[in-house]
Amino acid sequence: MDAPSVTFPRRETRRISVGDVPVGGGAPVTVQSMTTTKTADVDGTLAQIYALAGAGCDIVRCTCNEAEAAEGLAHIVPRSPIPIIADIHHNHRMALAAMDAGVHGLRLNPGNIRRPEHIKAVASEARDRKVPIRIGVNGGSLDPALYEKYGNVVTPEAMVESAMTELGYFAEVGFDLVKISVKASNVPLMVEAYRLLADATDVPLHLGVTEAGPLPEGYIKATAGIATLLAEGIGDTIRYSLTADPIEEARAGRVLLESLGLRERTDIDLIACPSCGRAEVDVIKVAEEARAALANRDLPLQVAVMGCVVNGPGEARDADLGIAAGRGRGHLFVKGTNVAVVDEADMVDQLVEWAEYIAEHGTEAALARVDTHKAAREAERDRASLIDEQGQDVNASAQRVELIRRDLRN
Ligand code: SF4
Repeated sequence: MDAPSVTFPRRETRRISVGDVPVGGGAPVTVQSMTTTKTADVDGTLAQIYALAGAGCDIVRCTCNEAEAAEGLAHIVPRSPIPIIADIHHNHRMALAAMDAGVHGLRLNPGNIRRPEHIKAVASEARDRKVPIRIGVNGGSLDPALYEKYGNVVTPEAMVESAMTELGYFAEVGFDLVKISVKASNVPLMVEAYRLLADATDVPLHLGVTEAGPLPEGYIKATAGIATLLAEGIGDTIRYSLTADPIEEARAGRVLLESLGLRERTDIDLIACPSCGRAEVDVIKVAEEARAALANRDLPLQVAVMGCVVNGPGEARDADLGIAAGRGRGHLFVKGTNVAVVDEADMVDQLVEWAEYIAEHGTEAALARVDTHKAAREAERDRASLIDEQGQDVNASAQRVELIRRDLRN
């Protein structure tokens, strides 16, 4: 598929590496998620990590809340296909244990581990072992002292101060392998906190709307916050915090980055018209069938499903491949050029066959393998007879306008 001609600027940040995944400094924006298994359940956690990696997750976080979890990490880390970050809660010793387990990164919440000597002890050890740390400020668990200082409200300024204070402790021991997040469940609050933070430091930023909730609202809230910032060039790594299977988090993150042109597409981009009075098929049903048939086949193509042959091919002419429904027949087109007219029952199978051919040989070769003039003539006959039958005004707008005028005259 062609690269998008419009791209978003990226804020310049420092580069760190989480395992072998670069973060910041112009590296591609990465997707993170978190396992929901007990970390002590090594096989269960690894199965989830493999599924997450398959869905597009680049870095995964596991809780490290007790000794059994740290011990589990010692077995999980060497077998994981992607880098592991240990999420540390209140006990700074768990951070040291996680480093002993070989994790590729840590996440500390400044609202939970507050004693400077504990923070500096962890940062010193991380410095010596070259293990990066995310300063993970969370609006809901802000340091009580800062909460009070800002009038018992969580403000963007309070969240940024929390992050910058922690960064100061790290600097005191010469540790700078850092990324920062300032998540909140309130989207405007989170957006403003990240904007302020981006002005205050060049440390790479991890974006998220915390506790975004169940689907589909969770998708929308998380996207509202994350996409707003990415479009401003802010953000080096992201996480959707959904009350759902974490696979949905990875998938959502991947799709968002692909949609914004921030990540190379690896799977199908199915576009479809919303349907209207012209539709000759149940567009929702055909689009669902096409998505199910084309997904997870490593076909990095844009495929269109359009409800009618009158407007469909033109509206989706940039798609690599598409189908527009005629009466009982589907018009297949490649980059807007008709290549075949097929029976309605075969539309989805034909899409799959053509998509596989294009993925392997390209659109030029696909166009060269058929007589496109013959296909165009056949498609045009269908199209003309439908327009004849339906008229250009299928929604009867002209007649409705006449009716309105008549009623208003009387
Ligand atoms: S492609 Fe056809 S059916 Fe779909 S919205 Fe456009 S006019 Fe309506």
